[in-house]
Amino acid sequence: MAETARTVIIEETGGPEALKLVDWPVGEPGPGEIRIRHKACGLNFIDCYQRSGLYPLQLPHALGMEASGVIEAVGEGVTHLAPGDRAAYAAMPPGAYTEVRVMPAAQVCKLPDDISFEDGAAMMLKGMTVQYLFHRTTPLKKGDTVLFHAAAGGVGLIACQWAKSEGIRLIGTAGSDEKCQLALDHGADACINYNTQDFTKRTRELTDGRGVDVVMDSIGASTFMGSLDCLKPLGMMISFGNASGPVEAFNLGILAQKGSLKVTRPTLFAHIADPVACQEMAAMLMGKVSSGAVKIRIDQRFPLAEVAEAHRALEARKTTGQTILTLE
Ligand code: NDP
Repeated sequence: MAETARTVIIEETGGPEALKLVDWPVGEPGPGEIRIRHKACGLNFIDCYQRSGLYPLQLPHALGMEASGVIEAVGEGVTHLAPGDRAAYAAMPPGAYTEVRVMPAAQVCKLPDDISFEDGAAMMLKGMTVQYLFHRTTPLKKGDTVLFHAAAGGVGLIACQWAKSEGIRLIGTAGSDEKCQLALDHGADACINYNTQDFTKRTRELTDGRGVDVVMDSIGASTFMGSLDCLKPLGMMISFGNASGPVEAFNLGILAQKGSLKVTRPTLFAHIADPVACQEMAAMLMGKVSSGAVKIRIDQRFPLAEVAEAHRALEARKTTGQTILTLE
């Protein structure tokens, strides 16, 4: 076993240039921990928030929140995994941009043989996010309509297919006509190019003036207020990200004026903090992928050493679907 592994860390917050590839200590798994040798790592927008300092970390810190690989060793008390198992995870603390790591076992899940390591690395964080958005945040039923921003992105393309598989009508938004077409190809019922169209007005038109039941908004600052205007009375706003910057403080009275709206600001990590819930969420996701209801679309692959380029592409809105960091 190597004592160190090539790992991407930050010593200080900043732009993509803050990402450093270093040799990082690995160690042996203690009670409740595993050592996993990665096959691939997933790239997520949250990695950019941590790198920039929007979500603070104690520095220096390794980055990366999801990966897949093979279990090399398990610590005392770990019963759901064994050496040699294929596995994948989305988990805190960050540290997935590496060849091998020791980490808590609770959020690590067995990866079925019919799901590739690349798909496993790309799907856990984004796919379990879609799982909790559609099943654990607000009751959604067949026939409900959801407005989903950034529908051609990593979380977005999974959401389009998930909605289709549940009989939920998904109206997407995206930043170009090509991205809109991608969302439509993955099951969105309609998609609005919000760079050329007023998404609020268009959403009203697409719902015969009624508005949608739920908005799932990961764009944040630039879309939040417009998103509230897309909701029908008593509708639910799920604000789950800040790709354009965090949402500013606002007067809660606005929610009453617009029809007793509800707003929540969830995070995946509150849901998967419960190990039983985490394994259940992962099992549902893996079922969707194994059955073909959700296909993982990896549009960008970057070697680990080129992680800064991967961050630049993600932040410049140049990516679609999933992005992974390769190790071999
Ligand atoms: P994406 O692949 O969706 O990339 C982000 C997309 O956001 C871009 O491609 C772009 O699409 C759109 N966007 C709009 N405005 C901006 C902007 N100013 N800068 C950059 N991008 C912008 O990323 P992920 O799939 O990794 O994540 C999607 C979102 O979901 C992120 O905000 C992330 O933080 C959030 N998230 C939240 C979780 C939670 O539990 N709270 C868990 C997982 C993800 P376009 O060009 O079409 O506008």
